[in-house]
Amino acid sequence: PVVTRFAPSPTGFLHIGGARTALFNWLYARGRGGKFLLRIEDTDRARSTPEATQAILDGLTWLGLDWDGEPVSQFARADRHHEVAEAMLASGNAYKCFATQDEIAVFREAAKAEGRSTLYQSPWRDADPATHPDAPYVVRLKAPRDGATVIADQVQGDVTVKNAQLDDMVLLRSDGTPTYMLAVVVDDHDMGVTHVIRGDDHLNNAARQMQIYRAMGWDVPVWAHIPLIHGPDGKKLSKRHGALGVEEYRDMGYPAAGMRNYLARLGWSHGDDEFFTDAQAQAWFDLGGIGKSPARFDFKKLENLCGQHFAGMDDAALLREFEGFLKATQRSPLGEAQKEGLAQALLLLKGGIKTFPQLIEKANFVLASRPIEPDEKAAKALDDVSRRILAELTPHLQNASWTRDALEAAVGTVAEAHGLKLGKLAGPLRAALAGRSVSPSVFDMMLVIGRYETLARLADAQG
Ligand code: GLU
Repeated sequence: PVVTRFAPSPTGFLHIGGARTALFNWLYARGRGGKFLLRIEDTDRARSTPEATQAILDGLTWLGLDWDGEPVSQFARADRHHEVAEAMLASGNAYKCFATQDEIAVFREAAKAEGRSTLYQSPWRDADPATHPDAPYVVRLKAPRDGATVIADQVQGDVTVKNAQLDDMVLLRSDGTPTYMLAVVVDDHDMGVTHVIRGDDHLNNAARQMQIYRAMGWDVPVWAHIPLIHGPDGKKLSKRHGALGVEEYRDMGYPAAGMRNYLARLGWSHGDDEFFTDAQAQAWFDLGGIGKSPARFDFKKLENLCGQHFAGMDDAALLREFEGFLKATQRSPLGEAQKEGLAQALLLLKGGIKTFPQLIEKANFVLASRPIEPDEKAAKALDDVSRRILAELTPHLQNASWTRDALEAAVGTVAEAHGLKLGKLAGPLRAALAGRSVSPSVFDMMLVIGRYETLARLADAQG
């Protein structure tokens, strides 16, 4: 069975790159009936506050990436890491190194002066334990010096690192705390992780981690190191390009499904498919579709996909997510009347919007209550002439049966009387009903809000 994991270090927010890594692991596991685990790499105690961890959980939750079981704390597993280091000492795959920082510095200086590799070679590697002093030590891996370590990476292909380029890395520091390199391997092994999909900034670590797997006689996971995300200009994604935190995208009002779709396409492809559902993404996602070169962040494409997801979203799901958006961005929650109005109008509203703020604009005719406050553009549409025409329209609407045909006929009659195209009358009518220049069609709005409300808003607009 497939087991993947996401192993973020808490930094205070979920980076968009981390979110994509999590998504790939989630898709891979979910598409294969496997498990997707979460491990918080919280060994840096200063940065690993409960808030920083919560920010990651919140980001994943918003994105809809559910993990199996409880999140694992790496810090809490320090005893286990220690135990593995001890086992490696016992098997002769690791040794105690008593070299002081000064001795290491002297070694490096000399190596540099003589033009040799400055990778530290400890004299304690082959020392007889009987000669060990009673002094602080670190535990180092007894790494192979000859040959090469090959990572069969699923994205980059075989990556070969000469063992002479890898030193005897530290597994336990002199204060007994495990190093990152040891902790990752022990945790991945103990959690039964079969596939590690992560950023290619970890590719070099993989060669070192491989040596720990070998020393312990453990199965090596399948590795897939994915290229980092670049900005539209081809440079490494940074603040300069736009938002980096997933919660910023949430607060801008992108729907999570659109975000998932976009992030899935960021560095992975499935033929020409751009728009897809979660079920499709899970069925299609594979390591072979991951590109070798960095993907560029494309805000236009993100918006396009979000628009398509809005249009296809089920009403109840859309309303639920909308309420989540209002809460996350500290806007007031929907009242009962607003919910009812929205529920009636969603079919008219969900086409053509890409973000929740756009929905708020477009839905003003059901979200706002009388008197409708026109925005600047709408106020302009309500000049004296327009208001007089609206006044003339009023008796026609009072007498019309409230059907689309009858409403179109009423508006048409008044427009004709003034030698106006229907569209010319629609502007002021829209301004009076919605207070906005963007809204569903005036007839749709009138049908949704009904005769009483329509006439009241026309009366308000005439002042
Ligand atoms: N904690 C590491 C990071 O945040 C990831 C380690 C891994 O995936 O192996 O970059």
